[in-house]
Amino acid sequence: MDLNSRNRKELVDILKNSGIDSPEVLNAIGKVKRELFVPPELKNYAYNNTSLPISSHQTISQPFTVAFMTQLLEINPGDRVLEIGTGSGYQSAVLKELGAEVFSVERIYELITKAADTLSNAGYEVHLRHDDGTKGWPEEAPFDKIIVTAGSPKIPKQLLGQLATGGKLVIPLGDEISQDVVLIKKEFDEIQEKNKTGANSYSEESIKYKMKRYKNFKFVPLIGEEGWNI
Ligand code: SAM
Repeated sequence: MDLNSRNRKELVDILKNSGIDSPEVLNAIGKVKRELFVPPELKNYAYNNTSLPISSHQTISQPFTVAFMTQLLEINPGDRVLEIGTGSGYQSAVLKELGAEVFSVERIYELITKAADTLSNAGYEVHLRHDDGTKGWPEEAPFDKIIVTAGSPKIPKQLLGQLATGGKLVIPLGDEISQDVVLIKKEFDEIQEKNKTGANSYSEESIKYKMKRYKNFKFVPLIGEEGWNI
C-alpha cells in the first residue's frame, strides 16, 4: 500500500471516530485521491482532517465537513445532485463515487477551469457551469439533492424552487464568522396528501419544508444575487 492510500485509510478511520457512520460515504472518501485536488505544495497535508487553501482565496473544505454534509443528503445512485461552489472539485468527486449525476456551479473562472482539468484527469465526469450559483441551474432542474458549500445569510429561493419534491438541500447558514449546517427536506403535507385526487394534484401550499440545524461550522462566503453582496 502506498503512502497516500495509507493516509486515506487513516482519514476514513478519523471520520468514523468523529461520528460519520454511513458506509457509503466512508467508502467514497476512501476512494477519492484528495492529493489531486490540493495545490502541489500542500500535497503532504492532503489527508489532514482540515480545510486547505486553494487559489483565489478559497478553500477545499475539511474532510469531516464534506462527509457530514454528504451523509445528510443520503445520496442514492442515479440522484441528480446540484453543488454550489465547485472549488477544487473534491466534493463533486465524492458525490460521483456515490453514483450521483453531478451538476456543479462555481463563480470564480480560474477555479472552475482548474476543477474541470482535475476532475477529468481523475476520470470523473461532472457537468460544470461558471455562474452565480445562488440562481441554481434552472435548465437542469429539478434536482434530487442540492449542496451549498459556501456560507450564506439566507436560503436562496431559486434553489428551493429547483429542488424536487421529496428532495433534500444542505446549506451553511449564518453570519461571516460562523454558520450552522441546515438540512431542508421538501415534502408534501400529510394532511393535504389525504385529499389528493391524483398523483400530481398537490398544490404549492401543500408542500412543506422540514428543517434541522447542526451547529458551528466555518465556510467561505456565498457571494451572489441571493447570498452575500460583497
Ligand atoms: N466544494 C469545494 C471543494 O470540494 O473544493 C469547496 C468549496 S469552497 C469552501 C466554496 C466555494 O464556493 C468557493 O470556491 C467559492 O468561490 C464558491 N462560491 C461562493 N459563492 C458562490 C456563488 N454564488 N456561486 C458559485 N460558487 C460560489
